[in-house]
Amino acid sequence: MAVSKTQPVWAVREALEAGCRLFGENRVQEAGEKFPSLRADFPDIELHLIGPLQTNKARRAVRLFDVIETLDRPSLAAHLARLRLEGGPFPRLYLEVNIGQEPQKAGLLPKEVPAFLARCRTEWKLEIEGLMAIPPASAPPAPFFAQLQALAAQTGLARLSMGMSDDFETAIAYGSTQVRLGSALFGARKKQDKSELSG
Ligand SMILES: *Cc1c(COP(=O)(O)O)cnc(C)c1O
Repeated sequence: MAVSKTQPVWAVREALEAGCRLFGENRVQEAGEKFPSLRADFPDIELHLIGPLQTNKARRAVRLFDVIETLDRPSLAAHLARLRLEGGPFPRLYLEVNIGQEPQKAGLLPKEVPAFLARCRTEWKLEIEGLMAIPPASAPPAPFFAQLQALAAQTGLARLSMGMSDDFETAIAYGSTQVRLGSALFGARKKQDKSELSG
């Protein structure tokens, strides 16, 4: 996945012309400004939301994204379920896991995942395709990728969104089905958005 947050439309267009079709954005607003016009020229774009989703932006997100990777709480699941009942296109969903159990980070705790998944299916009638996580920045990522891989196996989920520019090779070794590459593809971003990673 090409993570195109903070990149101008011309840079996304270059990636499209080079053959990229899978993109990740972390803000609903920014994605909504950039992607509708690009989609007119490249209808086979697949766009994923990889940043935190506020409930009041869920309606817009459901229309804009093919996949929401950051479902992380009951209130959002209930809201998405209501939006789904309204009909129309509805995105595929991943659960975000706070795999390092960091207090400041979004995501379900690993031990919460099985019960949350069961509620998604029975209570909200939402199908979940996979898990997404961002391991702690300050520690070697391999043990966290291994934990996420084990959690996916335990819960029977086939898709694993893990690995970024600095650690994607390790993530692939632990069964990642989708690495999310920003700076490795587009070059360094401005500094400020490291903090957005933690939600
Ligand atoms: C920004 C971001 C990435 C990409 O980060 P790089 O280190 O530039 O590859 C991946 N995943 C998420 C959730 C992000 O916010």
